[in-house]
Amino acid sequence: MSRLTCSSLEVLPTPLWRTVLRTNFHRVEALADFLELSDTQRKKLDYRPRFAVQVPWRLAQKMEKRTLNDPLVKQFIPLMEERESYPGFVQDPVCDLQFNQEGKLLQKYEGRVLLACTSACAMHCRYCFRQHYPYDLSKSFEKELSWISQDASIHEVILSGGDPLSLSDETLAAFLIPLSKLPHIRRIRFHTRFPIGIPERIDSSLLDLLGELPQQIYIIIHCNHINELDEDIFDALRKLQRLGCIVMNQAVLLKGVNDDSGVLTTLCEALADRGVIPYYLHQLDKVNGSAHFDVPIEAGRILIDEVSHRLPGYAVPKYVHEQAGEKSKTSLVQY
Ligand code: SF4
Repeated sequence: MSRLTCSSLEVLPTPLWRTVLRTNFHRVEALADFLELSDTQRKKLDYRPRFAVQVPWRLAQKMEKRTLNDPLVKQFIPLMEERESYPGFVQDPVCDLQFNQEGKLLQKYEGRVLLACTSACAMHCRYCFRQHYPYDLSKSFEKELSWISQDASIHEVILSGGDPLSLSDETLAAFLIPLSKLPHIRRIRFHTRFPIGIPERIDSSLLDLLGELPQQIYIIIHCNHINELDEDIFDALRKLQRLGCIVMNQAVLLKGVNDDSGVLTTLCEALADRGVIPYYLHQLDKVNGSAHFDVPIEAGRILIDEVSHRLPGYAVPKYVHEQAGEKSKTSLVQY
C-alpha cells in the first residue's frame, strides 16, 4: 500500500528528482557559457525571452558545443527570431480556451477530457503551443473531479499541462485516487516530457502510486530526436512498461531538428526496439515565436512516406495536425 493517500499528513523527504530539477539551466547567459558560444552566435540569442529558459542538465550535456546548429540546442535555446511576427502564427493556435469546461478541464474530443494540471515543465521547448496559455495555477482539483464524476460519457482522463509529472506525488494522488474510484473512468493518460530530461522522476514513489490505479495507464512521452535519449531514460520507461503502462511517443516535426527521413527513422526504430510506440508526428502548431521551426506539410508527407518504406507499420508515426473544432486529429497522410 502506498503512503500516498489523500489524507497523508506525513512529511516526506525531498525526492531526488526535485534536487535534479534544481540543477536546470534558467539563464541564457549560463547556457551560452556552458555551450562555449562565440560572440557572433551570442548575438542571435534572446536574453529576455517571453517564455523562460528551462533546460535540464542531462539535456544540456548532450548538446554539441560551439554551435547553434544542433538538434537539442535548437529546441531549447531562445533566439531573437522568436520575437518576430508572422501571418498565421498566434497566441493560441489550437484554440484551447474555446474548449475549456471547468477550471483546468478542456474537452475537445468525445469520451475524453484533458486536465491542464500545471504550467510547470522539466524543460521549456521553444515551439510549445501552450507557452502563452493562461493556466489555472491552483493545486485543488475538486471542481474538476466533480465535473468528471457527473459525466458518465467520459472514459479517459488525460493529464497534461505543462507537465503533470512536475506535480508532487501527493498532489497527483489527491486527484488520481478519487478519480480512479469513478466507475466510468477506464483509462488515464499522462502527457509528459519529464522522463526525457529527468528520468529520476520515475521513482518508486510514483510507481507505487500508478500501481494502485486499476485503470489502464498510458504514458505519452515527447521526444523529437535520438540525441535526447540514453539508457537511463530507457530504464525509467521500462519500469513503467513492467508495471503494465503502455508507453508511446509523440514528436513534433521541427525544421533543423528532425525534418530528415534518416533522423526520423533512427528515432522511431530506437523507440520501437524498446517497445515504445512511435504514436504521432505532429505538424507544428503555429504559435507565436515558432515560425523558424515550420516545415511545409508537403515536405512532411514526403518524409513520412520515406520512413514508411524503411520501417514496419507499427513503427511509423501517424502524421497529424490539430485543427480546432475537428472531432479528432486530422491525418496528413492517406493510408
Ligand atoms: S514539455 Fe511539453 S508542455 Fe512543457 S514546454 Fe515542452 S512541449 Fe510545452
